[in-house]
Amino acid sequence: MEEPSIPNAYDVALKQLALAAEMMGLDPNIHEILKYPKRCLIVAVPIKMDSGEVKVFTGYRVQHTDARGPYKGGIRYHPSVTLEEVKGLAMLMTWKCAVVDIPYGGAKGAIVCDPKRMSETELERLTRRYTAMIADIIGPLRDIPAPDVYTGPREMAWLMDTYSQLHGYLIPEVVTGKPLSVWGSEGRLKATARGVSVCIKETVKELGIGLRGLKIAIQGFGNVGSNLATILAEEGCRIIALSDSKGGIYNPEGLNPIKVLEYKRSSRSVVGFPGAKTISNEELLAMECDILVPAALGGQLTEKNAENVKAKAIVEAANSPITPKADEILAEKGIMVIPDILANAGGVCVSYLEWIQNLHREHWPLEEINKRLEERMSRSYHDVKRVAEEKGIDMRKAAMILAVGRVADSMKTLGLWP
Ligand code: GLU
Repeated sequence: MEEPSIPNAYDVALKQLALAAEMMGLDPNIHEILKYPKRCLIVAVPIKMDSGEVKVFTGYRVQHTDARGPYKGGIRYHPSVTLEEVKGLAMLMTWKCAVVDIPYGGAKGAIVCDPKRMSETELERLTRRYTAMIADIIGPLRDIPAPDVYTGPREMAWLMDTYSQLHGYLIPEVVTGKPLSVWGSEGRLKATARGVSVCIKETVKELGIGLRGLKIAIQGFGNVGSNLATILAEEGCRIIALSDSKGGIYNPEGLNPIKVLEYKRSSRSVVGFPGAKTISNEELLAMECDILVPAALGGQLTEKNAENVKAKAIVEAANSPITPKADEILAEKGIMVIPDILANAGGVCVSYLEWIQNLHREHWPLEEINKRLEERMSRSYHDVKRVAEEKGIDMRKAAMILAVGRVADSMKTLGLWP
């Protein structure tokens, strides 16, 4: 069957699962169970807008499996998010938590809305009402939400407060990615970017090139893209291209991410940054560089544009940015891909540390967090690498085999009730 140009994340996830299942000889009964999310909750969230008018927004919380622990995964706010996408992303969270071996299952949530066109008070009412409507299925030992696309510490604080108000006492461990003032963790905000940077360092070692002067192109300048650019520039890499939803900028001499961030704060886009050439997102993806980092939305590299990629390696900071057909094309071109479930797992790794601190009512220093994060990320990278080498397969297939294998082991041991 022809693959649509941007297949939805659930189709992609099913395809990746089927590939892994075949290669590892997965028990067909386990495969059958893993194809479906265990629960999908759809809520209609009514909000009074600032104008006085009432609008109803659609919200989702999808729980894929809890075979290895409570469901875990972010909540995204986006005007075009669909249930199918959330189902795919929930499955991805299962594999992500399994690859880095933390005791969680997978989940994802979303609200169909355009946060850029809403006021802070509207977003607060939306977040709080959504939380109340999913409150029955989340909880510190049940399902622990976190930030995702267009949500952050502010939304997590509202979520925690609403959940706590409903239960009558403060429950920080119900959500991760909170502000520091309400029991968030040191290092959580930059954790995904820091994890990606660990993967880039390992990849570069393998390619036999140094970090100094390494040419990097990053698609997306949100939390992950901007922090990654800053971390890599500090390490001596050259950030030659950056972009956001409005377009991209290019400077072969290297862009200063801190200055770009200041510019974006005042002009709402990276486009127009002084001294840089304006480029399109497509041009960025086809840029001559060492490492290409898609750090925006899913479905960016498809069979239509994968052929144009000139990077030596791609490190997936975003979730599901490459379609399976594009994966094949990139493999034929000999371009190494570090898959999302490994590359961007730093966020959920520090979410796990935040949760442990909350459960123990402790607060650990930044050095401790970063040390644990870096150790876990590089250990996981090498775990995946070992499988890839043993089986002579690419990193995505290896990460999937490792992750699905761990989940399947738990499911087999637990058995099927009744
Ligand atoms: N939304 C992030 C992800 O896709 C973080 C999830 C979490 O911390 O639970 O990995």
